[in-house]
Amino acid sequence: MIVEATPNGICLPEIGLWLDAREPSPACWISHAHRDHARSAHGLVVATSATLSLYQARVNGELGGGNQMLALNYGECLEWRGARLTALPAGHIVGAAQLLVEYGGERLLYTGDIKLRAPLCGTQSVVVPCDQLIVESTFGLPIYHFIEREEARQRIAAFAQECLVEQATPVFLGYALGRGQEIVYALRQAGIPVAVHGAIARFLPFYAEQGFDAAGWEPYEKGSHRGRALVLAPGMRKFLEASGKDYRIAYVSGWAAVSNARARVGAECLIPYSDHADFEELIQLVTQSGARRVHVVHGYVSAFARILRQRGIEAEAVEGPSEAIQE
Ligand SMILES: [Zn+2]
Repeated sequence: MIVEATPNGICLPEIGLWLDAREPSPACWISHAHRDHARSAHGLVVATSATLSLYQARVNGELGGGNQMLALNYGECLEWRGARLTALPAGHIVGAAQLLVEYGGERLLYTGDIKLRAPLCGTQSVVVPCDQLIVESTFGLPIYHFIEREEARQRIAAFAQECLVEQATPVFLGYALGRGQEIVYALRQAGIPVAVHGAIARFLPFYAEQGFDAAGWEPYEKGSHRGRALVLAPGMRKFLEASGKDYRIAYVSGWAAVSNARARVGAECLIPYSDHADFEELIQLVTQSGARRVHVVHGYVSAFARILRQRGIEAEAVEGPSEAIQE
């Protein structure tokens, strides 16, 4: 199967399908609703129902809509231009899916953003055998090692409780879609009162619909939040500093695996939990897939492809335009 890397992203020309294309394309698979994957209107969008809902709320409204949409949920197959497409869970944010493409007797797997460990919210991924693998490498260096979700849950709750006992305000900085909702869910499961910034709160109903209901959260408003944990978008830190209030920050992120994150984000508590795979998970994924050819996209593409080649796996880096990596 031909895998074509273009400035607009990856295309499978034999079946006329784009994968997370940057610019409008006639037909595109969208792996999940983060902006660096779902960023354009397309003639036809194929994705899971949850991703389509988030895409409509987040991207389509801004772009004016007009797409045709086709839902392909976990485990479902679609006959597409002589190929068979199957969606599989990716364990990343809610709705995130891998795409298995079977065509001409060959199997190609596009992971999108993926993790193997069970997520706090979402469906655990599966690894299926394939001939060609297109895999992300956001954390494709051996310095990145992450914790299991149970440990993340415990550390999030323990930090919040410790701060509240000391009458300080625990603050969690989380990305607007994915990490933010997972933190709110973990805090509410532990019975901790929580106020949530609007950028994160707007996606909580989508998580509730998928079975991850963080009921009991309150909207964040400027002013006193004594006795509550705050879950804010990362850009809110400056406002906190200006407020002069007694707060303490935790940073829940894959980037928290390296100690300079403490200084970089001003957090005293680093919790290395991610919605991406760490290095060992990526190696495990590649090995278990049995792929004879690997295309590496996103993140440390050159380094990770080199590491795979050193292990005897045919691998190539697919360089895209430089852009912020959303975790
Ligand atoms: Zn993502």
